[in-house]
Amino acid sequence: NLTDKLDSVFKKLRGQGRLTEDNIQQSLREVRLVLLEADVNFRVVKDFVANVRERAVGQEVLKSLNPAQQVIKIVRDELGRLMGEGQDNHLDLAARPPVPVMLCGLQGAGKTTSCAKLALKLRREKRNPLLVPADIYRPAAIDQLKTLGKQLDIAVFDSRADVDPVKLCTDARQFAELNGYDTLILDTAGRLHVDQELMAELQRIKQALQPREILLVADAMTGQDAVNVAESFDQQLDITGVILTKLDGDARGGAALSIRAVTGKPIKLVGLGEKLDALETFHGDRMAQRILGMGDVLSLIEKAQAAVDKDEAQAMEQKLRKEGFTLETFRDQLKTIKKMGSMESLLKLIPGAGKAMKQVGDMQLPDRELKKIEAIINSMTAAERRDQRILNGSRRLRIARGSGTTVQDVNLLVKRFTEAQKMMKKLQKLGPKGMKGMKGM
Ligand code: GDP
Ligand code: MG
Repeated sequence: NLTDKLDSVFKKLRGQGRLTEDNIQQSLREVRLVLLEADVNFRVVKDFVANVRERAVGQEVLKSLNPAQQVIKIVRDELGRLMGEGQDNHLDLAARPPVPVMLCGLQGAGKTTSCAKLALKLRREKRNPLLVPADIYRPAAIDQLKTLGKQLDIAVFDSRADVDPVKLCTDARQFAELNGYDTLILDTAGRLHVDQELMAELQRIKQALQPREILLVADAMTGQDAVNVAESFDQQLDITGVILTKLDGDARGGAALSIRAVTGKPIKLVGLGEKLDALETFHGDRMAQRILGMGDVLSLIEKAQAAVDKDEAQAMEQKLRKEGFTLETFRDQLKTIKKMGSMESLLKLIPGAGKAMKQVGDMQLPDRELKKIEAIINSMTAAERRDQRILNGSRRLRIARGSGTTVQDVNLLVKRFTEAQKMMKKLQKLGPKGMKGMKGM
């Protein structure tokens, strides 16, 4: 209910006391586990944690308003950096047409599908691509690409099996030149495992065509294997980037992070489904969030930090300590929430809250509810705000009239608030240790 939600927001809003190096170590242990669970390569995790620790034990954190949250922010920043945030992950097709783009990878990774998706994407960007089925060992693969091309109304070079793949690619290039196609998308053969024969063939195609982009297609679901595959393809072919497929499944994305860290090559595109328009530009920050599994908690933290400056937070905390959690201090907190934007947009940032809001269905909009709550509290006398227990029937009626609400509204607020107050008392009894346990990361 609303009180619970407010309560969790308050917990995040209020300064959480001191953070010691011990606390930081503990948090980093949690982060380490999360990353390993997300299938991030252990070497990468080790370096990563070391980097975060270095930044986190510095002044930056211990002096900040809210150290625990500052740690999360550093984790996010570092994850973003590891993922190549800010690095150019756009396809580079600035060359004399026809520009060859070569897709390679193991069988089943999603090469053929990604070729078709990429062609569609490029056509939407006003290019005129030609699909080239260069997986000549499997006639079915050629047919698969032809079918996809037909579906999208995108030209597919008429390959036949049992032609030398290099010859096939150079023929396709000539065909593209003669017919005005500006981009060649090469669907190369794959194997079940990395093997030297395959690599040799791919190297020959690379030699002959000089592709502007060599994109490894890697299956995110294969986790650590994808990292090893990426490493060997990069060693043999010096890839220019990665297309990470099947991220719509329950792959936690650790592969993305590791591939980027191990090869140093950018993830350029991600496959998010079997449909042919499910290919998107890669966003490191979103992937960081996916890996942390924290919904948008991180942006909530940033908002909170922007909204509450340190002095204000301290003043609020002192007042709370002196006067306790009353309708008076509650009203101050509501003001802070309002500063952070609407309650609704705030709730959306809390994992699970979006769903909860849907379930509530026709409940009044939180923003309107908030205004009502404020109006009711404003209509109370200072004494009533300090202790709502003195609110008898006639006082409640007066407040309802004064705030343009009903006695039922007033009753509901008083009831909810009293519940919240009880909870706060319980939390305070637990002491700082208990509060910390409640907070989690
Ligand atoms: P190839 O052997 O590397 O050419 O792989 P395919 O393109 O034939 O794809 C293998 C399977 O993975 C097919 O069933 C595709 O529909 C599926 N696939 C490819 N990309 C994605 C993706 O991003 N998401 C999902 N869910 N499935 C995908
Ligand atoms: Mg294929």
